[in-house]
Amino acid sequence: RSLAELDAEVVGCRACPRLVAWREEIAVVKRAAFAGETYWARPVPGFGPPDASLAIVGLAPSAHGANRTGRLFTGDPSGDVLFKALHRVGVASQPTSTRIGDGLELRGARMVSPVRCAPPANKPTPEERDTCRSWLAEELTLLKPTLKAVVVLGAFGWQALLPVLAEAGWPVPAPRPKFGHGVELELGDLRLFGCYHVSQRNVQTGRLTLDMVCDVLASATSAAGL
Ligand code: SF4
Repeated sequence: RSLAELDAEVVGCRACPRLVAWREEIAVVKRAAFAGETYWARPVPGFGPPDASLAIVGLAPSAHGANRTGRLFTGDPSGDVLFKALHRVGVASQPTSTRIGDGLELRGARMVSPVRCAPPANKPTPEERDTCRSWLAEELTLLKPTLKAVVVLGAFGWQALLPVLAEAGWPVPAPRPKFGHGVELELGDLRLFGCYHVSQRNVQTGRLTLDMVCDVLASATSAAGL
């Protein structure tokens, strides 16, 4: 199936009972600031063109961000940082991402989530990560003909991604290299870049700055030919 068909199918997935319950409960309880909105409350598909040469791999949708808006990193503080950086390096058409239909486009890059439903406390279980793996594997296989670089935001995404890359035929060394901010790997024709997650916590504590994100993205876009 095509990437568009995959996107259409994933939004109907109900394979993880705990996550299905959580994503739907949040949509009823809501956050006061969004009381008048109808939450998406379904799995969130990838975002970006099907012939992307750069993939950005996160963790999972946030409860009141992507689980509300239906688009990855859209409507939450993590996205505020990430899209500022993506705009600065020329990948995002605008520095903000508020809702589907806001005019935002990505040039040559696709965002992908290893777990596609919002988890309690932003922490999916290893079982949920493994259950969602087939969606990630299929998406990366579909992107493989054009994919040249991947930025991985955080250790969870790194651990989820490396086995999938190995299964899809990229030469992942054993033992698997550890995640770190600034780590770069060459896996045959694919370059992999580690970056701390753009979480509110990492940014507020100063562990990650906008300039640090831009530096990693600049190297990755260059490797991706963007
Ligand atoms: Fe399906 Fe993935 Fe959501 Fe689990 S996390 S219900 S596998 S889309």
